[in-house]
Amino acid sequence: MTIAQTGVADPHETLHRVFGFPAFRGMQQAVVDRVLAGRHTLAVMPTGAGKSLTYQLPAVTLPGTVVVISPLIALMHDQLRSAEAVGIRAATLTSVDTNRAETVDRLLAGELDLLYVAPERASQPGFRDLIAQVQLALFAIDEAHCVSEWGHDFRPDYRLLRPLLDHFPDTPRLALTATADAHTRADVLTQLGIAQDGLIVAGFDRPNIQYTIHPRQGMTQQIADVVARIPGPGIIYAQTRDGTERLAASLARSGRPVRIYHAGLTPEQRAANQAAFVASEDMVMVATIAFGMGIDKPDVRFVAHAGLPKSIEAYYQETGRAGRDGDPSEAIMFWGAEDFSRARQRLSEVPEERRAGDRARLNALAALVESPGCRRAILLRHFGESPPAECGNCDNCLNPPQRIDASVLAQKLLSAVYRTGQNYGIGHIVNVLTGADDARVRDRGHDRLSVHGIVNAAEAPLLRPLVRTLMAQDVLAETEHKGLAFGPAARPVLKGEAPVLLAIQPKRERRRRGSAAG
Ligand code: ADP
Ligand code: ZN
Repeated sequence: MTIAQTGVADPHETLHRVFGFPAFRGMQQAVVDRVLAGRHTLAVMPTGAGKSLTYQLPAVTLPGTVVVISPLIALMHDQLRSAEAVGIRAATLTSVDTNRAETVDRLLAGELDLLYVAPERASQPGFRDLIAQVQLALFAIDEAHCVSEWGHDFRPDYRLLRPLLDHFPDTPRLALTATADAHTRADVLTQLGIAQDGLIVAGFDRPNIQYTIHPRQGMTQQIADVVARIPGPGIIYAQTRDGTERLAASLARSGRPVRIYHAGLTPEQRAANQAAFVASEDMVMVATIAFGMGIDKPDVRFVAHAGLPKSIEAYYQETGRAGRDGDPSEAIMFWGAEDFSRARQRLSEVPEERRAGDRARLNALAALVESPGCRRAILLRHFGESPPAECGNCDNCLNPPQRIDASVLAQKLLSAVYRTGQNYGIGHIVNVLTGADDARVRDRGHDRLSVHGIVNAAEAPLLRPLVRTLMAQDVLAETEHKGLAFGPAARPVLKGEAPVLLAIQPKRERRRRGSAAG
């Protein structure tokens, strides 16, 4: 008789004997306990926290089969291998499996602890009828954020799961995700019919990672400085394939081994570059975000972003590849106003129903990069935690920026943008405001505007950082021809109803690494 048939095994005993782990990690036990008690649960745990165990262990101890719904066939086969490696009786049921008939036989014979299936198959009546014939232990819904239009990865197939789940009201549900902000999370609970109190959130803090977020100012040099300063292996995320090639070329003189990774390389080149990186102790990988999924390299010492990531979730995920060994590591982002204007332009191209979510995500990102406050606190609050106000290991905690009230300067700037017709770039606007002796200003008659020369020399250097801030806040937008125009949030600022605070980084000698609690 197997443990699965007794149904009374002690989870700790199973953890040791079957999985070979000395103890549960983080919130694993809380999740497993709830699942074993037969209660619906949404577990939000960061990548690497050990989500699989929270349904694999119940698959071993509970009578019946655990049905795992998982969106990526490649991932499913990985999980199948790791489940089989510890002796769990598991199978996948996908279009690429040639042994489907055998899998169905095993299922019907009660010989499967785990069955992996994609949402499009799971939501079909045929599948429902199939599993109606067997004892079900649990529905595990992996990547559960895909059910929410608020999530960054909505998949309509996930919406079709609810009727299936409801058809088996006595079978507990375990939804799993690494990436859910509060809004998405609430939506996942509703969509999958899980009660509020079923939410379990694991710790997202990575105390050994030091966060730094900087505007771009001569980024090639900024990146070169990072590479020169931090000796261990590092990943630099560029936004385009071209960007990776250019950055890699510029780093050739650094004396560090440099490789690139993007979707334009052949699979062989990608595999070779990835393998070289994993084996190296000092390599710099310049990559698009295509790089990193499923890479297990514990000693990555820095992750740099040469541009704005797609969302806070993406940023957390990508920076999370640093310092898995717990040693001090750095996450450094360089962003520019253009990143925001481009992202806001893309918003107009996404389908209506997804726009609100995408806009909220972009605004959250803007708040992160612009904040004079603790970066870690913002990240952790985003994931629903209540962190201390300061972490002592991010740029803003180590070097608190000054905050100045730039409301009046912002009004002057917006007036100049407005009076010149909302199609001139920042250079021209600065010339008008500072009263620079400039032919183009005179030719356009802009020296006769009331805003000509109203910004003094002391304030002039603040104009470009201010434009960056206003663009991030959607007060200013960029036209097709790189001109500045009003964004939706311009009016209240112009009328003095919304104060504008500008964070000014103090001139920094580079500080020594903060006391990382890794
Ligand atoms: P996730 O799906 O949350 O990203 P995985 O389920 O792939 O994470 O687990 C990540 C790694 O952690 C795996 O190598 C797994 O074997 C390991 N792991 C899971 N639980 C434990 C534990 N309690 N103790 C030690 N290692 C664990
Ligand atoms: Zn901090």
